[in-house]
Amino acid sequence: MDNSAAGAIAQPDTCGRSRLAAVDPRVHELLLKQEQQERTTLKLIASENFASAAVLEATGSIFTNKYAEGYPGARYYEGNAIVDELESLALERLRTLFGSEHANVQPYSGSPANQAVYRALLRPGDRVMGLPIPEGGHLTHGWAVNFSGTDYKRVPYGLHEETQQIDYDRLRETAKRERPKLIWVGGTAYPRAFDYALMAEIASEANTYLAADIAHISGLIVAEAHPNPVPHCDVVTSTSHKSIRGPRGGFILSKNEDRYQTLYHQQSKYNLAKRIDRAVFPELQGGPHVNTIAGLAVALQEAASPSFRTYGQQIVKNAKALAQALLDRGYDLVTGGTDNHMLILDLWTRPLSGKAYAGRLAKAGIITNFNMVPGDTRDPSVTSGIRLGTPAVTSMGMREGEMVQIAAFIDLICSKPDDADVQARVRRDVADFCAAFDVPGISDRKAA
Ligand SMILES: *Cc1c(COP(=O)(O)O)cnc(C)c1O
Repeated sequence: MDNSAAGAIAQPDTCGRSRLAAVDPRVHELLLKQEQQERTTLKLIASENFASAAVLEATGSIFTNKYAEGYPGARYYEGNAIVDELESLALERLRTLFGSEHANVQPYSGSPANQAVYRALLRPGDRVMGLPIPEGGHLTHGWAVNFSGTDYKRVPYGLHEETQQIDYDRLRETAKRERPKLIWVGGTAYPRAFDYALMAEIASEANTYLAADIAHISGLIVAEAHPNPVPHCDVVTSTSHKSIRGPRGGFILSKNEDRYQTLYHQQSKYNLAKRIDRAVFPELQGGPHVNTIAGLAVALQEAASPSFRTYGQQIVKNAKALAQALLDRGYDLVTGGTDNHMLILDLWTRPLSGKAYAGRLAKAGIITNFNMVPGDTRDPSVTSGIRLGTPAVTSMGMREGEMVQIAAFIDLICSKPDDADVQARVRRDVADFCAAFDVPGISDRKAA
């Protein structure tokens, strides 16, 4: 390949983006289009966010080239002294941030992190309790089509019919009766705080492991805008790319010792921490994504700063403001509101499906996802709800006043879902509205 020619075509900027333009104009063009989309639309997908320019720089670095199977001090490849230091740094930051005894930063994402928990704690066929997807749970908490539902015996728990919040009393009865070996607490579409202390009580009574999945809320927990499950749970898993604003990836926190070692793992010579590590590598994965670990280390450094605390608290303030503004406009919300970063708009009584409304909103530059609501009678591929989240718009610097405006945009579209003129007008207004804010990882890098 003729690098000098590529260099001549390129107009270098601070992050070498021009090299991409020279080598692969098509991918470069798609990247510019995606940047344009992210700058001019409202990212209200509750699981998405903007990683900082520093996180992106570390994630896109030469650490992508290194093979590092194993763990710090015990690698299967040479040349890993620096990677050992990097991974140890990420682990130390993670343990400190969450107050955890043990950590693992190698899971490729949230789902593989959960898979490792199954491997470490259970045998195939064991019983697992989790919240089903229509009630806010995740695929990996025992959903039928997922490995967690096919390889393990599903014992779902659910929501209280009136409050639409977890029915802890019924959960307790079910756990005592069914004697699962693992209970998941966490969700992907649950707008309320989890009562980890109560869950721990129930898990102890039933002699079962308790695992919290904080994929969505890990950033809120760091910011003390949501309770921390670490003191109450055997294991805690998370993604690294949602509210905590790191690169795409996952991590696991755990106690060192297994409180049921003698009950369930008599033949294992490993404690809980070691079994988690072994489940990730070598049982499920090969070489870790060292560049992702680098990006995570940076994100954890950012998350430890006082400004991240303000950020996390603002996410919740914004979600509450958005919820109130929608309620004021006559919309229904699952559970009637939110304690965290997300709200589930219940559109069951409206003429169109959740998917149809989400599509109309997207035409107007308001990016959401359709989502099931409790008791949904529509197919999961269309649903009767929309999930909204405030982490990304809060990263742009928006506050309560902007949430009131966003509710007005949403209302304009949903009350006239078939008016193309309204969609076009709101699309322009949304772009103007977004132009007043910085988009981390895009505008700060351009300015550099
Ligand atoms: C997003 C999410 C996951 C999975 O994360 P992926 O990185 O998409 O695999 C797991 N659990 C919960 C609760 C989630 O919200």
